[in-house]
Formats: sequence, C-alpha cells, structure tokens
Amino acid sequence: MVNEEDDFTGPWEPTEEDLEWTRGVVESLEMNQDWMEGEMAFRRTGDTTLTLLTRTERAESASRRVEVVLQMIGWHLDMTQAKIIPDDPQLATEMMQKEAQSWMCPHCEKTPVVNMDLENAQWEVLGNNQFVDESGQESVTDRWVVGLTCECGEPIYLSPDDYYLIAGDELFYTWEGWFPIQPEQIMEAVDKGYWEDLYARPLGSSRGGKPVPLHMRGLMCVRRKEEEEE
Ligand SMILES: [Zn+2]
Repeated sequence: MVNEEDDFTGPWEPTEEDLEWTRGVVESLEMNQDWMEGEMAFRRTGDTTLTLLTRTERAESASRRVEVVLQMIGWHLDMTQAKIIPDDPQLATEMMQKEAQSWMCPHCEKTPVVNMDLENAQWEVLGNNQFVDESGQESVTDRWVVGLTCECGEPIYLSPDDYYLIAGDELFYTWEGWFPIQPEQIMEAVDKGYWEDLYARPLGSSRGGKPVPLHMRGLMCVRRKEEEEE
C-alpha cells in the first residue's frame, strides 16, 4: 500500500483499498500491540493513535504516506519519538550495539545486562512464535531465547538477535564451549601440534541432552579438551 511512487501529476493519494486495508489492520491491533510494515515499526498507543517506533532513513516518504492514510480514516500518527535507523546495515548494527550497552536488568534495574555472565548464556527453546506468512498461512516455530542470570537472582531472557547485539560475533558463535573452525585453521592446528588438544565434530541438532542453536547446526566445531566433555 505504501510502495507507489509520487508522480508529476500531483501528490500521492491512497486508493479506497489502501484505506480499507489499513483500517482493517489498525483496528485489529490490541492496545500496545506492534505492527511491522516494510521498514517501519508502529505501536497502537491509543484508541485512534498509532506511534511510529522506528523506521529506516529511506522509509521517510513511506511513513508520510501511512500518516496520510491514517488521517483519512480518522486516526493520528505520532512520529515525534521515532528512532531513525541508518540505511547502511553496518551503521545500523553499530547503532543498535551501542544502545544495547545501556540495557539494564528489568527486575532490579541496577545491573547492566552487558555485565552479566554472557559467556555462560543458556540457549533454550521457550514456547513458540506464531506468524502469518505471505500466503496467509499460519506457521509455528520454536521460540529461542538466551537465558542469563542477574546478580539479583532473576533470570533474563534475550532474543537471539538481542544477544548478538550485546555479546558480539565471537560469543554468539560459541555454544557450550564449542566454536566453529575453518579448514585453514584446522591445518594450522595440526601444523602447530595442538589439534590433539581439541575435540572436533560438526554439531547436529542436539548435544549432551541440549538442543543446539540453529545458527550452530552443521558447522564444523571444536572444543578444548581440558573442558569436560559431557
Ligand atoms: Zn537484576
């Protein structure tokens, strides 16, 4: 609905279908429920108010079109708090990583999440996610979380994406002491004589009674032998 380009005949105007479609979407949102559309994230914050939470730089005109449509169906779009995400994915990740450093434990609000024991994070499946795909088919997938424990004793569960932001590439690709190894690193380990100190195997779907996170499955991984093998 928001993809048509402005043309020289005048400003963009929504069609009757655009209006109906949007009305259907926003009216079906629960209070505080989020709606993702293109590169924009909205939240219903009032009876007839939608708040733009985030958008990419390039989604500016798209967000203005949503504003026009909402006005025409008697809704208001609050864009004052919107966080603008850089179009460059590298810059966008850096911005989000920086922001992640300020996350606090939601229970005690005293301990920054980044100070928790990120190395011993527990990957687990906690319930499932339901979503509707492009063909309108409803699907259910495992909902993965990364569990940490705060000093206050309360567990914190991060989404894998959030864990990546706060822990970085290396910890993200380390699970239960296993980390991926490239063929040239295997050669190097053999040459330098420390290959014998490593366990090496491709990770399957579970190991030691624990499910292997999806991004680690099928990767050739090693683990140091001094750490006890389960
Ligand atoms: Zn805490």
